[in-house]
Amino acid sequence: MSEHSFATRAIHAGQTADPRTGAIIPPIYQASTHVQDGIGGFREGYEYNRAGNPTRSALETQLAALEGGSAALSFASGLAAEDALLRGLLKPGDHVILGNDVYGGTYRLLTTVLAPWGIETTIVALEDADAIRAALRPETRIIWVETPSNPLLKIVDIAAIVEIAHAGGAIVVVDNTFASPALQQPLGLGADLVVHSTTKYLGGHSDVLGGAVVFGDDRFYEPVKFQQFAVGAVSAPLDAWLTTRGIKTLAVRVRQHSENAQAIAEWAAGRAEFETVYYPGLATHPGHETAARQMTGFGGMLSLALTAGPGAARAFAESTEVFQLAESLGGVESLIGYPSEMTHASVRGTALAVPENVVRLSVGIEDVRDLIADLEQALTRIAR
Ligand SMILES: *Cc1c(COP(=O)(O)O)cnc(C)c1O
Repeated sequence: MSEHSFATRAIHAGQTADPRTGAIIPPIYQASTHVQDGIGGFREGYEYNRAGNPTRSALETQLAALEGGSAALSFASGLAAEDALLRGLLKPGDHVILGNDVYGGTYRLLTTVLAPWGIETTIVALEDADAIRAALRPETRIIWVETPSNPLLKIVDIAAIVEIAHAGGAIVVVDNTFASPALQQPLGLGADLVVHSTTKYLGGHSDVLGGAVVFGDDRFYEPVKFQQFAVGAVSAPLDAWLTTRGIKTLAVRVRQHSENAQAIAEWAAGRAEFETVYYPGLATHPGHETAARQMTGFGGMLSLALTAGPGAARAFAESTEVFQLAESLGGVESLIGYPSEMTHASVRGTALAVPENVVRLSVGIEDVRDLIADLEQALTRIAR
């Protein structure tokens, strides 16, 4: 499948028709174990489902094909994937450099779950090459990049970070959740590993949790696979199947998410009620040129800073109707969130704190005229 283009791979990789019945969609292998042909006689390597399941394998094949990777591993959630990666590759005394605008759960995992086990984390503004070089130590193993970042849509130049990391003996992990492989493929830019919350754009329908690690080559596969097997935060067969089904429409969905978000960003940029529009598709965004170089579109996420301050931002988030007030992102339906009390509540008062006048939009694929009308009525309502 790797010779085919992205949209074709998204539909066909890992999806061979059932050889017995010809069912065009491979069945959901809802089983916990596999019968052996004599002791140790595993059919196609399947034994017990914590170690491997055919529906999960199909998703892992699909994920690797989408990112141009050599292999992928699928987990019960994005954070389970991150945890398996970090514990598989790090040992006590190791050091991680983390971008200063990352998913709050990633920050919490490193600083509260893994720190007591001897993993040290330094927060760095990854757009500042000198700051990264200054933070690098002999024991730095990983530079963790999220671009576009959450929720301020900062853009980090992946190839530039890779150069600095590799020169310093570290590897680069990119959390590619916001862009999705439809818009950005970090392994092709030199990154060593990609992680996803497949809960978001890959699943795409707000109906399943999941996560993945995608490998650029074989160097890091075995230790992470061992974590998956030994700890067991695997994706269940039905969850893997739902994610596979979502991925098949990723290319068309993301095109529409991006088109709608661009229209909303341009509308918001002309409104005095918003002092800042955070969207990399705007020429005024500081990361616009880098984004245009390393992405094939600007995505469906944008944030807005309300000129009137935190009270107005909170009220705005509670006044939309088509945009539903909820955590998460990347589904076909539009969502609005107030990061400082929702997704980023865990980083309040830290270096990662989000300005309190910011709302975050996950722009869905509804008719954009309805979305803009909804934002307009919310502005009218909070002005009263
Ligand atoms: C949601 C999210 C995660 C965590 O994934 P879960 O599936 O919720 O565990 C990690 N990174 C980013 C950027 C996310 O948006």
